[in-house]
Amino acid sequence: MIGLISATAAGAAARDRLAAAWPDRTRVYEGPVKDAVRRAFAECEQLVCFLATGAVVRLIAPLLGDKAADPGVVCVDEGGRFAVSLVGGHGGGANELAREVGELLAAEPVVTTATDAVGVPGLDTLGLPVEGDVAGVSRALLDGEPVALKTEVSWPLPPLRAGAEGSYAIRLTDRLVEPAEREVVLRPPTLVVGVGASKGAPVDEVLGLVESALRDAGLCARSVAALATVDAKADEPGIVEAARRLGVPLVTHSAEELAAVEVPNPSDAPLAAVGTPSVAEAAALVGGGELLVPKRKSERADGQAAMATCAVVRRPGRGRLAVVGLGPGARDLLTPRAKAELRRASVLVGLDQYVDQIRDLLRPGTLILESGLGAEEERARTAVAQARKGQAVALIGSGDAGVYAMASPALAEASDDIDVIGVPGVTAALAAAAILGAPLGHDHVSISLSDLHTPWEVIERRVRAAAEADIVVTFYNPRSRGRDWQLPKALAILAEHRAATTPVGVVRNASRPDESSRLTTLGALDPATVDMMTVVTVGNTATRDIAGRMVTPRGYRWQASREGAE
Ligand code: SAH
Repeated sequence: MIGLISATAAGAAARDRLAAAWPDRTRVYEGPVKDAVRRAFAECEQLVCFLATGAVVRLIAPLLGDKAADPGVVCVDEGGRFAVSLVGGHGGGANELAREVGELLAAEPVVTTATDAVGVPGLDTLGLPVEGDVAGVSRALLDGEPVALKTEVSWPLPPLRAGAEGSYAIRLTDRLVEPAEREVVLRPPTLVVGVGASKGAPVDEVLGLVESALRDAGLCARSVAALATVDAKADEPGIVEAARRLGVPLVTHSAEELAAVEVPNPSDAPLAAVGTPSVAEAAALVGGGELLVPKRKSERADGQAAMATCAVVRRPGRGRLAVVGLGPGARDLLTPRAKAELRRASVLVGLDQYVDQIRDLLRPGTLILESGLGAEEERARTAVAQARKGQAVALIGSGDAGVYAMASPALAEASDDIDVIGVPGVTAALAAAAILGAPLGHDHVSISLSDLHTPWEVIERRVRAAAEADIVVTFYNPRSRGRDWQLPKALAILAEHRAATTPVGVVRNASRPDESSRLTTLGALDPATVDMMTVVTVGNTATRDIAGRMVTPRGYRWQASREGAE
């Protein structure tokens, strides 16, 4: 329960908002504050005091006992601007509560415990099954005590502030071990179990075989990433149900694919039945890795022939490449997902000016590989190479990283032995459109005028096609010192099909501190006012300047009737 205490009318108003939002978690303490604080301190796990920190310090000082047992206390100032975690930041959960209260009241959370400022990820937020002393090891990480990281298998971890030695430990393993005292065991999904079964094999036989194979090899079922078999067995009930009970996906491969995998124990029976000399071993080994349990057959109490086979492989470690769009510049146009991926990464790769944009968000210990303009190919190769080494890599780009940016060169380099996660971003075209009004209300296209990567003939053909099709066009990379004739040329092509009065929006540094924008026309635009920080959006024949805003009507009908009237 969270006890709420206030003294003034403004404090009571904020208190009531909290009480209304969390009716089941909060209890209001009325009456003289000294008495209210004393009662709440005794009865609640947490307190939120709508009082000055000084007042609260004096009130709770005589009540404070043990940091592990005392309630967490958060103070909210009279103006509702700050939610201060005062005592019990970790044990009492005051840091977390300050963040929650801050979110609810639009107040800035103030957290002063050093360890939270440096941002260690929660061990239970890594997406892996976790066993052992999570609370103890987390506290050790937060308090900066030495924690040893013991990795028996490779898995892309975020920076954890754990080192070689320590009285606490984090162990990354797929083996069947009990966590020691002061130890957390993380279970990465490293194992693939290949299974084969004859028609009608009971689930208990399949599952029993898988479980005993794992147990006998000293492997942990919680590290199983998938069951794998041949396409022909995709609907075999015993296999499907075994996967369901293990809580893992069933992946299947064609008989040809399996026949091509070299295995230690091929046999004739599956060759005749499904067209590959091995199902279990081959299905487990398709993606490469180390065969830990060669093919074994189920044992049946009734002495009948075995109906199931299995084999276990440890997959090679898979790195993780997140391709993250940072948006056009402003921090509040960076998506929460992008932020999470930046904090998830142990390696960050990007153009130096983009790294500067988000450096403060990175966890300490993140390896930053930044390079200058023009090194795109090299950045792409670096990012992929790091991911191949098993790291968690974030490759960043402004706007959306897939738009005239790093995603395509990176994915052209990347093989299927790494996981790739794309995080979309707000593009320059979208940021500019929002500033201009609604210029993209109908069909639109982006065209880059940079002829470094694309021959000018191709660019010109595309501009002409957009002009003829009456599509709104946003020009990226419109003009630089060495490239000044392309924009006038492109505008001239559009002008062959659009009136000189067609609205044109010019937006420079959208959402950055020195943002500027102008609404002009095809006839009046001075290309000299455009540079590489700019996008230029040219309307179609229906686009209008309405009250100073650029608006392209949505309806086909409006356009049709207008054309009919001409
Ligand atoms: N990936 C980016 C585009 C990179 S290409 C995106 O999705 O937006 C670089 C070009 O984008 C620049 O030359 C400029 O034309 C445009 N651009 C990028 N950020 C911009 C901004 N904040 N304001 C205006 N134009 C921008």
